[in-house]
Amino acid sequence: MESVSSALVSESIGLYLHVPFCKRRCTYCDFVSFTDFSQVKEYFEALWREIELWSRFLPTIRVETIYVGGGSPSDVPFELLERTFLRVQDLFVLTEDFEFTVEVNPSCEFVERLRFLNVNRVSIGLQAADEAVLERVKRRHSVGDFFKAFEAAKSFAKVNVDFIVGLPGESDRTIENDVRVVETLRPDHVSIYLLETHEEEPGNVVNEVVENRYERFVEAVKAMGYDRYEISNFALDNSFCKHNLKYWRNQDYIGLGVAAGGHLGRIRYVNSPRLEEYISKLKEGDLVFDYFSRNDDLQELKETIFMGLRLSEGVNIEKLRQIWGKFDPYELFHDLLGEFLEIEDGFLKLTKRGFDLSARVLADVIDRVSLMAVGR
Ligand code: SF4
Repeated sequence: MESVSSALVSESIGLYLHVPFCKRRCTYCDFVSFTDFSQVKEYFEALWREIELWSRFLPTIRVETIYVGGGSPSDVPFELLERTFLRVQDLFVLTEDFEFTVEVNPSCEFVERLRFLNVNRVSIGLQAADEAVLERVKRRHSVGDFFKAFEAAKSFAKVNVDFIVGLPGESDRTIENDVRVVETLRPDHVSIYLLETHEEEPGNVVNEVVENRYERFVEAVKAMGYDRYEISNFALDNSFCKHNLKYWRNQDYIGLGVAAGGHLGRIRYVNSPRLEEYISKLKEGDLVFDYFSRNDDLQELKETIFMGLRLSEGVNIEKLRQIWGKFDPYELFHDLLGEFLEIEDGFLKLTKRGFDLSARVLADVIDRVSLMAVGR
């Protein structure tokens, strides 16, 4: 790990902290989170050790963004979050304009307390402005709770609201309600995700219907003046999520906690998703990776393109050439240019149609990059 600091590309990083606990699981959840809270304290002690270890590997680094996600950070004792932030503040140098985001399930009391941690961005998981849907997927809040949490957050922070389209029990009316929420509250930032449906789950609506709803929601939000700066993310007045931009631009960030991942220079890692293992290894003073690798040129190129094309700004071709000297997007994508891809001011990006069909276009783009490497 001594080589970590020399692997860095930038002088500042993003820092992600995973809080893998939820009092109850939502039916659609794919995240690593646990409902047994008996090891919460031990988990945080391990997390604090991990923070300490990384601060030793990166003694001069500045932290530009902190993102606390989960799980449900709002479900754990507040004091543990407070001590976590103090530890980060003590051991790392934060940039003056650092962005500090905490994900919350709508809870007014919890949001109020974030103000005292210097949190300046709150991401609220509403998911659907429809009580019946929330109940069906076992969310633990009502639409009313969301409104209260939103007002509390708005008074001191930038606010993101998360929506999911495609939840069981959803109808056209749900999307109309969602649109109305955005129209009325005008959050600084909105994320709209499309739930991947698993056919066998009862109550899931047909894909095409869901895709149409998604498109309608997206168009409505754009018509309100939101900038679709990433496939699923929309911002008013340049209120982009600086932390997530680090992921999409394939920049440097570290992830701490169970199942969290990082990217530093060419290093890519993912921590163990196993709680016991995470706690016990950190007790012994060791980091606990499930995956740790140094990307070769091809892997780094593929990641940079795949993530970068998700952004409306696209991906800097010069950056791609720094990874793969002879990278020639004109030759490689000649038949996609115009309809699905375009090149503007040195950036390769998706066209409007490419954005709409992003899953298919991105898969095609990555296949071509892999084939290109065969002929190197
Ligand atoms: S609150 Fe989030 S992490 Fe927790 S179960 Fe629900 S979707 Fe999963």
